[in-house]
Amino acid sequence: MSPVKTVHTVCSHDCPDSCAVLVTVDELGKATRVQGDPSHPITRGFLCAKVTKYLDRVYSPARLLFPMRRRPGAVKGNGHFGRESEAFEPITWDAALDLISQRLQLVSDEHGPEAILPYSYAGNMGVLGYGSMDRRFFHRLGASRLDRTICATAGGDALVSVYGKKLGTDPEHFRDARYIIAWAANIHGNNVHLWPFVQEARRKGAKLVVIDPYRTRTARAADWHLPIQPGTDAALALGMMHVIIRDGLHDQDYIDQNTHGFEALRNHVLSYTPACVAGLTGIAADEIETLAREYATSAPAVIRLNYGIQRSQNGGASARAVCMLPALIGAWKHQGGGLQLSTSGAFVFNSMALERPDLMMASPLERPARIVNMSRLGHALTELDAPPVKALFVYNSNPAAIAPNQNAVRRGLTRPDLFTVVHEQFFTDTTDYADIVLPATTFLEHKDFQGAYGHYFLQLSEQAIAPLGEAQSNVWLFSQLAKRMGFTESCFCDGVEDLMEQALGESADDLKTKGRIRQQHATEEFAAGLFATPSGKIEFYSSALAAQGLEPLPAFHAAEESRRGVKAQSFPLEFLPRKADNYMNSTFANLPGHQKMESPGLAMMHASDASARQIREGDWVEVFNARGRIRLRARIDGSVPTGVVAASLNWNKLSAGGSNVNALTSETLTDLGRGATFYSTLVEVRKLSPEEAQGGSASID
Ligand code: SF4
Repeated sequence: MSPVKTVHTVCSHDCPDSCAVLVTVDELGKATRVQGDPSHPITRGFLCAKVTKYLDRVYSPARLLFPMRRRPGAVKGNGHFGRESEAFEPITWDAALDLISQRLQLVSDEHGPEAILPYSYAGNMGVLGYGSMDRRFFHRLGASRLDRTICATAGGDALVSVYGKKLGTDPEHFRDARYIIAWAANIHGNNVHLWPFVQEARRKGAKLVVIDPYRTRTARAADWHLPIQPGTDAALALGMMHVIIRDGLHDQDYIDQNTHGFEALRNHVLSYTPACVAGLTGIAADEIETLAREYATSAPAVIRLNYGIQRSQNGGASARAVCMLPALIGAWKHQGGGLQLSTSGAFVFNSMALERPDLMMASPLERPARIVNMSRLGHALTELDAPPVKALFVYNSNPAAIAPNQNAVRRGLTRPDLFTVVHEQFFTDTTDYADIVLPATTFLEHKDFQGAYGHYFLQLSEQAIAPLGEAQSNVWLFSQLAKRMGFTESCFCDGVEDLMEQALGESADDLKTKGRIRQQHATEEFAAGLFATPSGKIEFYSSALAAQGLEPLPAFHAAEESRRGVKAQSFPLEFLPRKADNYMNSTFANLPGHQKMESPGLAMMHASDASARQIREGDWVEVFNARGRIRLRARIDGSVPTGVVAASLNWNKLSAGGSNVNALTSETLTDLGRGATFYSTLVEVRKLSPEEAQGGSASID
């Protein structure tokens, strides 16, 4: 027997913190404890409530432990929570790999390889688990390429358009700030390791301001909460610029030395007067004046911007405008000043070696395959042609729950001619549509390495325990499938160590020795005036965007689905489909311990909107639009401003009526980055009669 040991791992869930996690493993090889690693300078020895209970997930009796195939005659989409296995029968891995490879070959032969669509995102943030052998496999196959836009492309493209790279203020430096704006950032809820630095700054006198339509945990704890109307952030940022420039509070020296396009910006913001912006955002003109003046005169001032801002139709412009604020006041000069949206640009891996896009030339296509936007999966599965999608391979994601325009997605997934494979840890909303279900490892059960998008530490994640049952990692799965498909390239024989070396080059040994490497260079780039934009400066005006026919300066445009759009005549309320505080998107929603921490199934309404519809606290209501309808209980607790309804993401089969918030969201794309616009959604709400409230599952429209 091996002695008790402690293994260094990294939480691979989709979260900016990328926590260092210590796993205690007993003599029998069973993990007995997970805890934060106190030696990590940012995550400092504690885990969020979601992952503190992680062994409940790893050893859940509901874990998928062996491959399965759908039983003949079992109807897709009829998954009842806890009874999903009735639709499947166990098979061996050999049989599963044979079935999948034969079917993929058939699809490729009959329709061309682009009829195969991979669908994955950040259910696994490990570099190898997120994208390595899987990419090689699908490139060699000639499958459609997935444009991974569901979360962050509008904001990412915005940040890069202004600064050239996805870098930002070091989280440790937040303790030195005197003015902190959490802009669409629920730090206390889902970036929890930044919170102690914020509190340290506040103990030294810093002010915390939250700009968010929803009264989040962070907003409740802040010094000042500005409940902005959804999708109007560009207007507020431009209004702040108007005040700052009008009153001469900008840093002209910094602007002269480090920025491009200031004169164009100065003229551009003239029309964004506080009175005008107040009418757009719902924030009073005097508050806009105060915010702008305090922000510009309280150095060091820092903005923690998060991705909610960019999930609206005007989201790219909104993120660009907010990103420009620190440049206007020279905030980057001060330790503790600046902005953080993402730090992921600090982690540079050899993606060509890891993903091998060159293999597309060895596919039957002998050219790069078409690109399919994951934010339009419903369209891809129901309307895309030449060729239509005939095989869908899902891993690291749960699209039946998280993809917008859910009823179109579910219609597509129900197609009898669609062959669907899902590699998962649990039965989910998506496995309800699978032909083949494959068991996947958790981050305790495989080795990987990981960057972060909320700090600057590259970390090694060792394998702590043997895979549960017959669970397998993504690397293993796609390397085995490649062999089954007859791909003879030696890269399909690479193991985890090979992949690490190919991705990291000389740094691989360093990482293996140290376990954690700080990307020091990245924390210093902006402070040193190094910007990887075409002009080499911070770009207020972007010629590159202009060349693409996009607006070179960020402007406010009301979303089609907003209170200012024509559709508001039929559906007058703006809908916020929020992430649940105690789940990670759709992950953890099935676990009893996590369910106890969460209050799903609530429609947060403003008292005036509720009373206008004769709705009282606790009433069953239907939130609906032309795309779908969901059933919730009304909660009238001051969480949202007038004209806004909020509800949190849950699994469909755990939701009353059988549909979650994405039955209402659309496949409209953002102005930048082709991203999803979850927060540009209009709805109406009506009170349900007692009979309706007790009714069966909502139909798929
Ligand atoms: S979900 Fe985030 S905060 Fe929680 S343990 Fe994982 S990385 Fe840390």
